[in-house]
Amino acid sequence: MSCKYMDGDTIAAIATPAGESGIGIVRISGPDALSVLASVFRDKHGRSRASFESHKMYFGKVVSRDGEMVDQVLAAAMLSPNSYTGEDVVELHCHSGRVVLRSVLELVLEHGVRLAEPGEFTRRAFLNGRLDLAQAEAVADVVHAKTKQSLKLALNGLSGRLSAEVSALRDRLIQVVAHIEAEIDFPEDDIDELAVNSLRGIIAETISDIEGLLNKAASGRVYRDGVSVVIAGRPNVGKSSVFNAIVKERRAIVTDVPGTTRDVIDEYVSLSGVPVRLMDTAGIRETEDVVEREGVSRSRESLDQADVVLYVVDASSLGQSYDATDDERTLSSIPRDQTILVLNKIDLVQGTVDEAPFGELTPPAVVKTSAVTGAGLVELEGQIVDLVVRENLSAGEAVVTNVRHEDALRRAKKHLEDALGATDRDTPLDLVVIDVREGLNALGEITGETVDDDIIDRIFSDFCVGK
Ligand code: GDP
Repeated sequence: MSCKYMDGDTIAAIATPAGESGIGIVRISGPDALSVLASVFRDKHGRSRASFESHKMYFGKVVSRDGEMVDQVLAAAMLSPNSYTGEDVVELHCHSGRVVLRSVLELVLEHGVRLAEPGEFTRRAFLNGRLDLAQAEAVADVVHAKTKQSLKLALNGLSGRLSAEVSALRDRLIQVVAHIEAEIDFPEDDIDELAVNSLRGIIAETISDIEGLLNKAASGRVYRDGVSVVIAGRPNVGKSSVFNAIVKERRAIVTDVPGTTRDVIDEYVSLSGVPVRLMDTAGIRETEDVVEREGVSRSRESLDQADVVLYVVDASSLGQSYDATDDERTLSSIPRDQTILVLNKIDLVQGTVDEAPFGELTPPAVVKTSAVTGAGLVELEGQIVDLVVRENLSAGEAVVTNVRHEDALRRAKKHLEDALGATDRDTPLDLVVIDVREGLNALGEITGETVDDDIIDRIFSDFCVGK
Protein backbone atom coordinates (compact mmCIF):
# COMPACT_ATOMS: atom_id res chain seq x y z
CA MET A 1 0.00 0.00 0.00
CA SER A 2 1.37 3.40 -0.84
CA CYS A 3 1.65 6.06 1.81
CA LYS A 4 0.68 9.48 0.63
CA TYR A 5 2.09 10.97 3.78
CA MET A 6 5.55 9.41 3.69
CA ASP A 7 7.02 12.72 2.58
CA GLY A 8 5.14 14.61 5.27
CA ASP A 9 6.14 15.60 8.74
CA THR A 10 6.34 13.38 11.76
CA ILE A 11 3.84 13.84 14.56
CA ALA A 12 3.66 12.77 18.19
CA ALA A 13 1.22 12.91 21.08
CA ILE A 14 0.41 11.33 24.39
CA ALA A 15 -2.14 8.68 23.37
CA THR A 16 -3.47 7.74 26.80
CA PRO A 17 -5.59 9.79 29.20
CA ALA A 18 -4.04 12.27 31.56
CA GLY A 19 -3.51 11.08 35.10
CA GLU A 20 -1.49 8.61 37.07
CA SER A 21 -1.79 4.97 36.08
CA GLY A 22 0.20 1.90 35.13
CA ILE A 23 1.07 2.73 31.56
CA GLY A 24 0.99 5.84 29.42
CA ILE A 25 1.85 5.81 25.75
CA VAL A 26 3.59 8.39 23.59
CA ARG A 27 2.79 7.70 19.96
CA ILE A 28 4.90 8.90 17.05
CA SER A 29 3.98 8.59 13.37
CA GLY A 30 5.74 9.64 10.20
CA PRO A 31 8.95 9.22 8.23
CA ASP A 32 11.25 10.20 11.12
CA ALA A 33 9.57 8.00 13.73
CA LEU A 34 12.27 5.32 13.62
CA SER A 35 15.21 7.69 13.67
CA VAL A 36 13.69 9.49 16.65
CA LEU A 37 13.31 6.14 18.39
CA ALA A 38 16.94 5.31 17.65
CA SER A 39 18.00 8.66 19.16
CA VAL A 40 16.02 8.49 22.38
CA PHE A 41 16.05 4.76 23.15
CA ARG A 42 18.78 2.72 24.88
CA ASP A 43 18.49 -0.99 25.60
CA LYS A 44 18.96 -2.40 29.09
CA HIS A 45 22.73 -2.42 28.60
CA GLY A 46 22.64 1.27 27.72
CA ARG A 47 23.37 0.63 24.05
CA SER A 48 21.63 2.38 21.22
CA ARG A 49 20.09 0.38 18.38
CA ALA A 50 20.27 1.18 14.71
CA SER A 51 17.24 -0.89 13.69
CA PHE A 52 14.03 -2.24 15.15
CA GLU A 53 11.98 -5.20 14.01
CA SER A 54 8.38 -4.40 13.25
CA HIS A 55 5.80 -5.25 15.91
CA LYS A 56 8.31 -6.29 18.53
CA MET A 57 8.64 -4.85 22.01
CA TYR A 58 12.02 -3.63 23.19
CA PHE A 59 12.74 -3.11 26.88
CA GLY A 60 15.03 -0.25 27.79
CA LYS A 61 15.00 3.41 28.64
CA VAL A 62 14.39 6.76 27.08
CA VAL A 63 17.33 9.10 27.51
CA SER A 64 17.74 12.81 27.03
CA ARG A 65 20.35 14.31 24.68
CA ASP A 66 22.91 14.32 27.49
CA GLY A 67 22.26 10.67 28.25
CA GLU A 68 20.11 11.13 31.33
CA MET A 69 17.33 8.60 31.85
CA VAL A 70 13.85 10.07 31.41
CA ASP A 71 11.89 6.84 31.97
CA GLN A 72 12.12 3.08 31.75
CA VAL A 73 9.98 1.98 28.82
CA LEU A 74 8.84 -0.67 26.41
CA ALA A 75 9.26 0.56 22.85
CA ALA A 76 7.61 -0.81 19.74
CA ALA A 77 7.95 0.12 16.09
CA MET A 78 5.23 -0.70 13.58
CA LEU A 79 6.74 -0.32 10.15
CA SER A 80 4.90 1.16 7.19
CA PRO A 81 2.51 0.12 5.77
CA ASN A 82 1.48 -2.29 8.55
CA SER A 83 0.61 0.27 11.19
CA TYR A 84 -2.42 2.20 12.39
CA THR A 85 -1.61 5.24 10.24
CA GLY A 86 0.07 3.34 7.42
CA GLU A 87 3.28 5.26 8.19
CA ASP A 88 6.13 4.19 10.44
CA VAL A 89 4.68 4.30 13.94
CA VAL A 90 6.54 4.16 17.23
CA GLU A 91 4.96 3.67 20.61
CA LEU A 92 6.80 4.37 23.81
CA HIS A 93 5.04 2.63 26.67
CA CYS A 94 6.06 4.71 29.65
CA HIS A 95 4.97 4.96 33.25
CA SER A 96 1.87 7.09 33.26
CA GLY A 97 2.32 10.28 35.18
CA ARG A 98 1.95 13.84 34.05
CA VAL A 99 5.62 14.79 34.39
CA VAL A 100 6.99 11.53 32.97
CA LEU A 101 4.82 11.59 29.85
CA ARG A 102 5.37 15.29 29.23
CA SER A 103 9.13 14.86 29.57
CA VAL A 104 9.19 11.99 27.07
CA LEU A 105 6.95 13.92 24.67
CA GLU A 106 9.05 17.08 24.95
CA LEU A 107 12.17 15.05 24.23
CA VAL A 108 10.55 13.57 21.13
CA LEU A 109 9.43 17.02 19.98
CA GLU A 110 13.03 18.26 20.28
CA HIS A 111 13.87 15.93 17.37
CA GLY A 112 11.96 17.93 14.78
CA VAL A 113 8.69 16.19 15.48
CA ARG A 114 5.51 18.22 15.71
CA LEU A 115 2.65 17.81 18.17
CA ALA A 116 -0.25 15.96 16.53
CA GLU A 117 -3.55 17.74 15.97
CA PRO A 118 -6.77 16.24 17.33
CA GLY A 119 -7.55 13.01 15.47
CA GLU A 120 -4.49 13.35 13.25
CA PHE A 121 -3.33 9.75 13.64
CA THR A 122 -6.73 8.47 12.54
CA ARG A 123 -6.87 11.10 9.81
CA ARG A 124 -3.59 9.82 8.42
CA ALA A 125 -4.94 6.28 8.62
CA PHE A 126 -7.88 7.48 6.50
CA LEU A 127 -5.71 9.38 4.00
CA ASN A 128 -3.45 6.36 3.62
CA GLY A 129 -6.36 4.04 2.99
CA ARG A 130 -6.02 2.07 6.25
CA LEU A 131 -9.58 3.00 7.24
CA ASP A 132 -12.40 4.57 5.29
CA LEU A 133 -14.27 7.54 6.72
CA ALA A 134 -17.10 5.49 8.23
CA GLN A 135 -14.56 3.25 9.94
CA ALA A 136 -12.64 6.26 11.24
CA GLU A 137 -15.85 7.62 12.75
CA ALA A 138 -16.47 4.20 14.29
CA VAL A 139 -13.16 4.55 16.16
CA ALA A 140 -14.74 7.42 18.11
CA ASP A 141 -17.89 5.34 18.65
CA VAL A 142 -15.86 2.45 20.05
CA VAL A 143 -14.13 4.78 22.47
CA HIS A 144 -17.39 6.43 23.57
CA ALA A 145 -19.54 3.25 23.62
CA LYS A 146 -21.93 3.44 26.58
CA THR A 147 -23.08 -0.19 26.77
CA LYS A 148 -21.89 -3.56 25.47
CA GLN A 149 -24.51 -3.40 22.74
CA SER A 150 -23.32 0.08 21.70
CA LEU A 151 -19.80 -1.30 21.56
CA LYS A 152 -20.87 -4.24 19.41
CA LEU A 153 -22.43 -1.90 16.86
CA ALA A 154 -19.40 0.39 16.90
CA LEU A 155 -17.07 -2.58 16.33
CA ASN A 156 -19.30 -3.63 13.45
CA GLY A 157 -18.72 -0.23 11.91
CA LEU A 158 -14.99 -0.37 12.62
CA SER A 159 -14.64 -3.72 10.90
CA GLY A 160 -16.26 -2.19 7.83
CA ARG A 161 -19.72 -3.78 7.69
CA LEU A 162 -21.47 -0.58 6.74
CA SER A 163 -18.66 0.43 4.39
CA ALA A 164 -18.94 -2.91 2.57
CA GLU A 165 -22.68 -2.52 2.18
CA VAL A 166 -22.36 1.05 0.91
CA SER A 167 -19.61 0.00 -1.51
CA ALA A 168 -21.84 -2.75 -2.88
CA LEU A 169 -24.60 -0.20 -3.51
CA ARG A 170 -22.12 2.11 -5.21
CA ASP A 171 -20.77 -0.66 -7.42
CA ARG A 172 -24.27 -1.33 -8.64
CA LEU A 173 -24.82 2.34 -9.46
CA ILE A 174 -21.46 2.60 -11.19
CA GLN A 175 -22.64 -0.16 -13.51
CA VAL A 176 -25.83 1.77 -14.17
CA VAL A 177 -23.85 4.90 -15.01
CA ALA A 178 -21.49 2.97 -17.30
CA HIS A 179 -24.42 1.39 -19.04
CA ILE A 180 -26.25 4.66 -19.59
CA GLU A 181 -23.11 6.39 -20.79
CA ALA A 182 -22.55 3.65 -23.33
CA GLU A 183 -26.10 4.24 -24.58
CA ILE A 184 -25.44 7.98 -24.77
CA ASP A 185 -22.17 7.46 -26.64
CA PHE A 186 -23.81 5.38 -29.32
CA PRO A 187 -27.04 7.22 -29.99
CA GLU A 188 -27.32 5.66 -33.43
CA ASP A 189 -28.28 2.38 -31.78
CA ASP A 190 -31.86 2.26 -30.66
CA ILE A 191 -32.13 2.34 -26.93
CA ASP A 192 -32.89 -1.12 -25.85
CA GLU A 193 -36.15 -1.06 -23.91
CA LEU A 194 -35.08 -4.16 -22.03
CA ALA A 195 -31.84 -2.51 -20.97
CA VAL A 196 -33.70 0.54 -19.64
CA ASN A 197 -36.03 -1.70 -17.72
CA SER A 198 -33.18 -3.53 -16.14
CA LEU A 199 -31.50 -0.24 -15.17
CA ARG A 200 -34.75 0.86 -13.63
CA GLY A 201 -34.82 -2.43 -11.70
CA ILE A 202 -31.32 -1.88 -10.37
CA ILE A 203 -32.10 1.68 -9.26
CA ALA A 204 -35.31 0.56 -7.56
CA GLU A 205 -33.50 -2.23 -5.78
CA THR A 206 -30.82 0.18 -4.59
CA ILE A 207 -33.48 2.55 -3.26
CA SER A 208 -35.08 -0.27 -1.34
CA ASP A 209 -31.74 -1.35 0.17
CA ILE A 210 -31.11 2.24 1.24
CA GLU A 211 -34.55 2.30 2.84
CA GLY A 212 -33.64 -0.87 4.71
CA LEU A 213 -30.59 0.86 6.14
CA LEU A 214 -32.56 4.01 6.99
CA ASN A 215 -35.27 2.04 8.77
CA LYS A 216 -32.75 0.70 11.22
CA ALA A 217 -30.86 3.96 11.60
CA ALA A 218 -33.12 5.34 14.33
CA SER A 219 -32.56 2.23 16.42
CA GLY A 220 -28.86 2.34 15.66
CA ARG A 221 -28.72 5.89 16.94
CA VAL A 222 -30.50 4.84 20.13
CA TYR A 223 -27.71 2.38 20.93
CA ARG A 224 -25.02 4.88 20.05
CA ASP A 225 -26.37 8.02 21.71
CA GLY A 226 -28.77 6.63 24.29
CA VAL A 227 -32.19 7.96 25.28
CA SER A 228 -33.63 9.91 28.15
CA VAL A 229 -36.43 8.41 30.17
CA VAL A 230 -38.25 10.73 32.54
CA ILE A 231 -40.34 9.53 35.47
CA ALA A 232 -43.28 11.79 36.16
CA GLY A 233 -46.47 11.77 38.16
CA ARG A 234 -48.08 13.27 41.21
CA PRO A 235 -46.26 13.31 44.55
CA ASN A 236 -46.14 10.08 46.57
CA VAL A 237 -47.17 7.73 43.77
CA GLY A 238 -43.78 5.98 44.00
CA LYS A 239 -41.67 7.74 41.35
CA SER A 240 -38.48 7.71 43.42
CA SER A 241 -39.14 4.13 44.45
CA VAL A 242 -39.50 3.03 40.80
CA PHE A 243 -36.40 5.04 39.93
CA ASN A 244 -34.37 3.42 42.68
CA ALA A 245 -35.66 -0.06 41.86
CA ILE A 246 -34.56 0.28 38.21
CA VAL A 247 -31.21 1.81 39.14
CA LYS A 248 -30.53 -0.92 41.68
CA GLU A 249 -31.25 -3.67 39.16
CA ARG A 250 -29.40 -2.20 36.23
CA ARG A 251 -25.84 -1.27 36.91
CA ALA A 252 -25.27 2.39 36.26
CA ILE A 253 -23.09 3.08 33.27
CA VAL A 254 -20.21 5.47 33.34
CA THR A 255 -20.70 8.79 31.69
CA ASP A 256 -19.20 12.22 31.58
CA VAL A 257 -22.46 14.05 30.98
CA PRO A 258 -22.70 16.73 33.66
CA GLY A 259 -24.78 16.32 36.72
CA THR A 260 -28.05 16.88 38.32
CA THR A 261 -30.21 19.73 39.38
CA ARG A 262 -31.84 19.97 42.76
CA ASP A 263 -35.19 18.96 41.34
CA VAL A 264 -34.30 16.43 38.70
CA ILE A 265 -32.16 13.49 39.76
CA ASP A 266 -30.61 11.33 37.08
CA GLU A 267 -28.70 8.08 36.76
CA TYR A 268 -27.34 6.22 33.77
CA VAL A 269 -28.49 2.66 33.33
CA SER A 270 -28.28 0.03 30.62
CA LEU A 271 -31.66 -1.45 29.72
CA SER A 272 -31.08 -4.48 27.47
CA GLY A 273 -28.04 -2.72 26.06
CA VAL A 274 -29.80 0.61 25.47
CA PRO A 275 -27.95 3.43 27.23
CA VAL A 276 -30.61 5.24 29.26
CA ARG A 277 -30.44 8.46 31.20
CA LEU A 278 -33.15 7.86 33.78
CA MET A 279 -34.54 10.98 35.41
CA ASP A 280 -36.69 11.32 38.46
CA THR A 281 -38.65 14.53 38.61
CA ALA A 282 -40.38 16.43 41.35
CA GLY A 283 -44.06 15.62 41.47
CA ILE A 284 -46.13 17.55 39.01
CA ARG A 285 -49.26 19.20 40.37
CA GLU A 286 -50.82 22.61 40.60
CA THR A 287 -49.30 24.38 43.56
CA GLU A 288 -49.13 27.80 45.23
CA ASP A 289 -45.86 27.03 46.95
CA VAL A 290 -43.07 29.02 45.21
CA VAL A 291 -40.30 26.47 45.80
CA GLU A 292 -42.46 23.59 44.70
CA ARG A 293 -43.57 25.53 41.65
CA GLU A 294 -39.94 25.91 40.58
CA GLY A 295 -39.51 22.13 40.87
CA VAL A 296 -42.66 21.53 38.89
CA SER A 297 -41.55 23.82 36.10
CA ARG A 298 -38.19 22.05 35.86
CA SER A 299 -40.02 18.74 35.75
CA ARG A 300 -42.04 19.98 32.83
CA GLU A 301 -38.88 21.09 31.04
CA SER A 302 -37.37 17.64 31.34
CA LEU A 303 -40.65 16.14 30.13
CA ASP A 304 -40.39 18.17 26.95
CA GLN A 305 -36.96 16.70 26.25
CA ALA A 306 -37.80 13.10 27.16
CA ASP A 307 -37.67 10.27 24.65
CA VAL A 308 -39.90 8.23 26.94
CA VAL A 309 -42.06 9.31 29.87
CA LEU A 310 -42.92 6.86 32.60
CA TYR A 311 -46.11 8.35 33.99
CA VAL A 312 -46.59 6.84 37.44
CA VAL A 313 -49.91 6.55 39.20
CA ASP A 314 -50.72 5.04 42.60
CA ALA A 315 -52.97 2.18 41.45
CA SER A 316 -54.26 1.64 44.97
CA SER A 317 -55.77 5.11 45.04
CA LEU A 318 -57.70 4.81 41.77
CA GLY A 319 -61.45 4.53 42.09
CA GLN A 320 -64.66 6.52 42.23
CA SER A 321 -63.31 9.38 44.30
CA TYR A 322 -59.99 9.69 42.46
CA ASP A 323 -59.28 13.21 41.24
CA ALA A 324 -57.58 12.81 37.85
CA THR A 325 -57.20 16.53 37.09
CA ASP A 326 -53.39 16.73 37.52
CA ASP A 327 -52.78 13.45 35.69
CA GLU A 328 -54.97 14.42 32.78
CA ARG A 329 -53.36 17.82 32.47
CA THR A 330 -49.88 16.29 32.24
CA LEU A 331 -50.89 13.36 30.02
CA SER A 332 -52.54 15.68 27.54
CA SER A 333 -49.30 17.65 27.21
CA ILE A 334 -47.01 14.71 26.34
CA PRO A 335 -47.09 12.48 23.23
CA ARG A 336 -49.07 9.30 23.93
CA ASP A 337 -46.81 7.06 21.89
CA GLN A 338 -43.80 8.09 23.98
CA THR A 339 -45.53 7.48 27.27
CA ILE A 340 -45.87 4.40 29.44
CA LEU A 341 -48.52 4.48 32.13
CA VAL A 342 -47.06 2.83 35.23
CA LEU A 343 -49.76 1.58 37.60
CA ASN A 344 -47.59 1.35 40.69
CA LYS A 345 -48.27 -0.01 44.21
CA ILE A 346 -50.04 -2.93 42.61
CA ASP A 347 -49.21 -4.93 45.76
CA LEU A 348 -51.73 -2.81 47.67
CA VAL A 349 -54.54 -3.44 45.22
CA GLN A 350 -57.18 -6.02 46.07
CA GLY A 351 -59.10 -7.18 43.02
CA THR A 352 -58.72 -5.73 39.57
CA VAL A 353 -57.21 -2.43 38.44
CA ASP A 354 -58.73 -0.13 35.89
CA GLU A 355 -56.11 -0.18 33.13
CA ALA A 356 -57.54 2.81 31.31
CA PRO A 357 -58.18 5.22 34.17
CA PHE A 358 -57.82 8.32 32.00
CA GLY A 359 -60.04 7.29 29.13
CA GLU A 360 -58.66 8.42 25.79
CA LEU A 361 -55.68 10.04 27.47
CA THR A 362 -54.48 6.64 28.69
CA PRO A 363 -51.39 5.76 26.61
CA PRO A 364 -51.37 2.43 24.74
CA ALA A 365 -48.48 1.14 26.86
CA VAL A 366 -49.56 0.27 30.41
CA VAL A 367 -47.56 -1.69 33.00
CA LYS A 368 -48.52 -2.73 36.52
CA THR A 369 -45.64 -2.53 38.95
CA SER A 370 -44.72 -2.69 42.57
CA ALA A 371 -41.54 -0.87 43.49
CA VAL A 372 -41.72 -2.74 46.80
CA THR A 373 -41.96 -6.34 45.56
CA GLY A 374 -40.28 -5.71 42.20
CA ALA A 375 -43.31 -7.02 40.29
CA GLY A 376 -43.62 -5.72 36.72
CA LEU A 377 -40.21 -4.04 36.59
CA VAL A 378 -38.79 -6.43 33.98
CA GLU A 379 -41.88 -5.87 31.86
CA LEU A 380 -41.46 -2.12 32.28
CA GLU A 381 -37.89 -2.35 31.06
CA GLY A 382 -39.04 -4.36 28.04
CA GLN A 383 -41.67 -1.74 27.22
CA ILE A 384 -39.15 1.09 27.41
CA VAL A 385 -36.80 -0.73 25.03
CA ASP A 386 -39.69 -1.56 22.66
CA LEU A 387 -40.68 2.10 22.48
CA VAL A 388 -37.23 3.31 21.45
CA VAL A 389 -35.87 0.37 19.47
CA ARG A 390 -38.37 -0.04 16.67
CA GLU A 391 -36.29 -2.40 14.59
CA ASN A 392 -34.47 -5.48 15.80
CA LEU A 393 -30.81 -5.23 15.05
CA SER A 394 -29.16 -8.57 14.59
CA ALA A 395 -25.52 -9.06 15.37
CA GLY A 396 -23.22 -8.67 12.43
CA GLU A 397 -25.43 -6.63 10.12
CA ALA A 398 -24.57 -3.20 8.80
CA VAL A 399 -26.20 -0.60 11.02
CA VAL A 400 -26.22 3.14 10.53
CA THR A 401 -25.72 4.88 13.87
CA ASN A 402 -24.39 8.18 12.68
CA VAL A 403 -26.48 11.21 11.68
CA ARG A 404 -24.03 12.16 8.94
CA HIS A 405 -24.40 8.75 7.33
CA GLU A 406 -28.16 8.87 7.70
CA ASP A 407 -28.29 12.26 6.00
CA ALA A 408 -26.12 11.03 3.12
CA LEU A 409 -28.37 7.99 2.67
CA ARG A 410 -31.47 10.18 2.58
CA ARG A 411 -29.96 12.39 -0.11
CA ALA A 412 -28.82 9.34 -2.11
CA LYS A 413 -32.34 7.96 -1.93
CA LYS A 414 -33.85 11.26 -3.10
CA HIS A 415 -31.52 11.47 -6.14
CA LEU A 416 -32.21 7.89 -7.10
CA GLU A 417 -35.95 8.47 -6.81
CA ASP A 418 -35.53 11.46 -9.13
CA ALA A 419 -33.59 9.26 -11.54
CA LEU A 420 -36.26 6.60 -11.43
CA GLY A 421 -39.00 9.18 -11.98
CA ALA A 422 -37.07 10.56 -14.93
CA THR A 423 -36.87 7.18 -16.63
CA ASP A 424 -40.65 6.93 -16.27
CA ARG A 425 -41.14 10.24 -18.05
CA ASP A 426 -38.91 9.38 -20.99
CA THR A 427 -36.42 12.05 -19.93
CA PRO A 428 -33.22 11.87 -22.00
CA LEU A 429 -30.74 9.44 -20.49
CA ASP A 430 -28.02 12.05 -20.14
CA LEU A 431 -30.24 13.82 -17.61
CA VAL A 432 -31.05 10.58 -15.78
CA VAL A 433 -27.39 9.88 -15.38
CA ILE A 434 -26.88 13.17 -13.56
CA ASP A 435 -29.24 12.07 -10.79
CA VAL A 436 -27.63 8.65 -10.55
CA ARG A 437 -24.23 10.29 -10.24
CA GLU A 438 -25.52 12.57 -7.47
CA GLY A 439 -26.80 9.48 -5.66
CA LEU A 440 -23.44 7.84 -6.12
CA ASN A 441 -21.68 10.89 -4.69
CA ALA A 442 -23.96 11.03 -1.67
CA LEU A 443 -23.19 7.37 -0.90
CA GLY A 444 -19.50 8.08 -1.40
CA GLU A 445 -19.63 10.68 1.36
CA ILE A 446 -20.23 7.90 3.89
CA THR A 447 -17.02 6.07 3.17
CA GLY A 448 -15.18 9.26 2.23
CA GLU A 449 -14.67 8.68 -1.50
CA THR A 450 -16.51 11.87 -2.33
CA VAL A 451 -16.37 14.24 0.57
CA ASP A 452 -15.28 17.82 1.04
CA ASP A 453 -12.18 18.59 3.05
CA ASP A 454 -14.11 20.77 5.49
CA ILE A 455 -16.32 17.81 6.42
CA ILE A 456 -13.22 15.69 6.96
CA ASP A 457 -11.74 18.50 9.07
CA ARG A 458 -14.86 18.65 11.18
CA ILE A 459 -14.99 14.90 11.75
CA PHE A 460 -11.40 14.66 12.92
CA SER A 461 -11.46 17.83 14.99
CA ASP A 462 -14.03 16.10 17.23
CA PHE A 463 -11.41 13.51 18.10
CA CYS A 464 -8.96 14.14 20.91
CA VAL A 465 -5.23 14.63 20.53
CA GLY A 466 -3.45 11.29 20.37
CA LYS A 467 -6.28 9.42 18.64
P1 GDP B 1 -42.73 9.89 44.88
O1 GDP B 1 -43.07 11.08 45.69
O2 GDP B 1 -43.68 9.72 43.74
O3 GDP B 1 -41.32 9.85 44.44
O4 GDP B 1 -43.02 8.60 45.79
P2 GDP B 1 -42.00 7.74 46.67
O5 GDP B 1 -41.19 6.84 45.83
O6 GDP B 1 -41.30 8.65 47.60
O7 GDP B 1 -43.02 6.82 47.46
C1 GDP B 1 -44.01 7.34 48.27
C2 GDP B 1 -44.40 6.28 49.27
O8 GDP B 1 -44.99 5.17 48.61
C3 GDP B 1 -43.22 5.73 50.05
O9 GDP B 1 -43.63 5.50 51.37
C4 GDP B 1 -42.94 4.41 49.35
O10 GDP B 1 -42.36 3.47 50.20
C5 GDP B 1 -44.32 3.98 48.92
N1 GDP B 1 -44.27 3.14 47.71
C6 GDP B 1 -43.68 3.43 46.55
N2 GDP B 1 -43.90 2.44 45.66
C7 GDP B 1 -44.64 1.50 46.28
C8 GDP B 1 -45.19 0.24 45.88
O11 GDP B 1 -45.05 -0.23 44.74
N3 GDP B 1 -45.90 -0.45 46.81
C9 GDP B 1 -46.09 0.02 48.06
N4 GDP B 1 -46.78 -0.71 48.91
N5 GDP B 1 -45.60 1.21 48.47
C10 GDP B 1 -44.88 1.94 47.60
